[in-house]
Amino acid sequence: MSNINLDITTRKEYPIEVGKGLGNTVSAWLGEHYSTDSVFVVIDENVNNLHRERLEKWCQPQFKHVYYIEIPEGERSKSIQQWKEVADEILSIGVERSTPLMAVGGGVTGDLGGFVASTVLRGLPLIHVPTTLLAMVDSSIGGKTGINHNTGKNLIGAFYQPDAVFADVHFLDTLDDKEWVTGIAEILKYGAIRNPDLFKDFESLVNKSFTANEQWVSVIAESAGIKADIVQEDALESGIRAYLNFGHTFGHALEKVAGYGTITHGEAVFVGMLAACNFSAQLGHSVDITPFKSFLPLYQRQMSPLPDDVDELIEAMKSDKKVKNNMLRLVLLNSWASPYVHDCTDYSALREAWEFAL
Ligand code: NAD
Ligand code: ZN
Repeated sequence: MSNINLDITTRKEYPIEVGKGLGNTVSAWLGEHYSTDSVFVVIDENVNNLHRERLEKWCQPQFKHVYYIEIPEGERSKSIQQWKEVADEILSIGVERSTPLMAVGGGVTGDLGGFVASTVLRGLPLIHVPTTLLAMVDSSIGGKTGINHNTGKNLIGAFYQPDAVFADVHFLDTLDDKEWVTGIAEILKYGAIRNPDLFKDFESLVNKSFTANEQWVSVIAESAGIKADIVQEDALESGIRAYLNFGHTFGHALEKVAGYGTITHGEAVFVGMLAACNFSAQLGHSVDITPFKSFLPLYQRQMSPLPDDVDELIEAMKSDKKVKNNMLRLVLLNSWASPYVHDCTDYSALREAWEFAL
């Protein structure tokens, strides 16, 4: 019997550009990297209505044929049916393995477009153009792509890295406040687990109306860099990538109990982070919640009434797909910027953390 060792690395280096007005950079990069005469642009319907002209300027100089494939906005597009429609369209137009696919939109478009790219012809070159704050700082980085199944979210998918990510804050000019607030929760998460200085830069920004100025470019670049660092160290999610779940085990339970759509992901994660900070403090860790408090008005301003049945919330936490052997694993903080994974056995502390946050 022979023994073959294959060292298949999942690592791939790619640029993540964040800026205001990236048109020339993107066009030049596309010209340098691809020699096909066509490109597929999988694009969210709202983004297509609002920003089509920008995309045309980016792509037209480099490609003879730019095929726009519009997908309906919203989570429902992360479906097997929508995957099929996009794949059908690409295959009927005609595609080569070197034809790039650009996914332009929020996390929904990135996840669906990325999954199409990973499967058609066993993999097309993928470029992410995130257009929501959440997509810029979170979903476009790290290579997770996928769709939902009727038994649960993100159950079908692949780890598939893009060739590049281009985050142009001009897209954010048209973003709803609700979507800004969702992205802000993820940025606060990066502050908590890696760089509490982010809170300072941030306070003045979020108290005004949201405008995508240069200050945002640096906050987004810093946040995207933190996510990139963490996933680089743990591309297949076996260890420290779990820290990115800070606030999320609580948050997912809240989303589930409140009913999806009643509360946004960002609101739920914000409340979840408050609970996780309180739990950490109960264990004697020095986590002073003050930096988070200044963001409270931002969330209270929008938030619909929260569920208050703590037992139901704890049950929902136990049914999270990340729970193993009935052990609730929570990301807590030793202090700011020092996260760790805690196996939760003390349900009265958990209850108290919920009561504090709600
Ligand atoms: P989304 O893609 O649904 O976008 C939110 C809304 O904003 C949509 O109505 C969209 O049409 C609109 N929109 C997008 N860009 C706009 C713009 N520039 N101007 C105006 N409107 C715009 O939601 P999202 O919050 O970006 O992403 C959520 C999804 O991301 C979820 O499906 C989640 O599972 C996924 N996600 C994936 C990862 C990952 O690692 N792959 C990480 C986090 C979240
Ligand atoms: Zn999140």
